Amino acid sequence: MRIAPRSYVTLLLALSVGCRETSPVDQGAVPVATLNAQRNGAAEKRAGDGDELVQFSLLAALAAGDYAGGAPLVDVRQFGDFGVGTFDRLDGEMIVLDGEIFQVVASGEVVRRDDQGATPFATVTFFAADGTIEHVSAGSLTELDQTLDRRVPHDKRPFALKVTAEFEELTLRSAPPQKPPYRPLAEVIDQQRVWKRENVRGTLVGIRCPEWMGTLNVAGYHWHFLSDDRKVGGHVLDCRFNDGRAAYDECSSVLIRLPASASFGAIDMSGVSEADVNKIERQRGGK
Ligand SMILES: [Zn+2]
Repeated sequence: MRIAPRSYVTLLLALSVGCRETSPVDQGAVPVATLNAQRNGAAEKRAGDGDELVQFSLLAALAAGDYAGGAPLVDVRQFGDFGVGTFDRLDGEMIVLDGEIFQVVASGEVVRRDDQGATPFATVTFFAADGTIEHVSAGSLTELDQTLDRRVPHDKRPFALKVTAEFEELTLRSAPPQKPPYRPLAEVIDQQRVWKRENVRGTLVGIRCPEWMGTLNVAGYHWHFLSDDRKVGGHVLDCRFNDGRAAYDECSSVLIRLPASASFGAIDMSGVSEADVNKIERQRGGK
């Protein structure tokens, strides 16, 4: 993807706003006009080549239980129009698609979010396809991963992946909001809700991170789903479809935006292993 260069002044503005930690109390503090000006500024004048994968916090911090608050949702939209994540207190799955943020709560309900709220972990980019693959079929999510491994081979750079199809079957999950004191993600993942849906047209929103990212993000594929009618979504555990279309966006750099919160400063990530991350985010086939 290519986006027009952003001025240094605008970048500083974005970063200073982005570093502001949001609590549920002050989420509405920034006037809408200011937010719009910042968003428009970011779209028109981006620094670098505009091809970054941007992540908020570290997966290891989320895995260790840093679920509270996080980056304002307005920042998420400022840094990307496509991606995955979760919400304050681990309240459901985030899908960012075409510049809109959707929340799939534990009941399976899909909620369209405005700029109010925050995310303890999200990964986004501005999606502009570098290539497409027609007539993609997969009997399982693992098979889709393997197909994309062959067709999108550069494995040292991150990719954003968009797969549109009529899905014969999807196995989806979400998680209920947590209460402090927060337990590690590998423990609370047992509370996840899992459901299946059949014959749903929609989009798989995927991020593939290289192995070298370790526990910074999900090494490998991380898939969320949103139906065309915006009524079905979630973190994808499995799927089956014929004759879909895949588009991929190769990212040239990674920007990690770190929380300023006391909880992030205090979190102990030393016990988080890649095996934990696999159990949490790379589970395949449902449970
Ligand atoms: Zn997920």
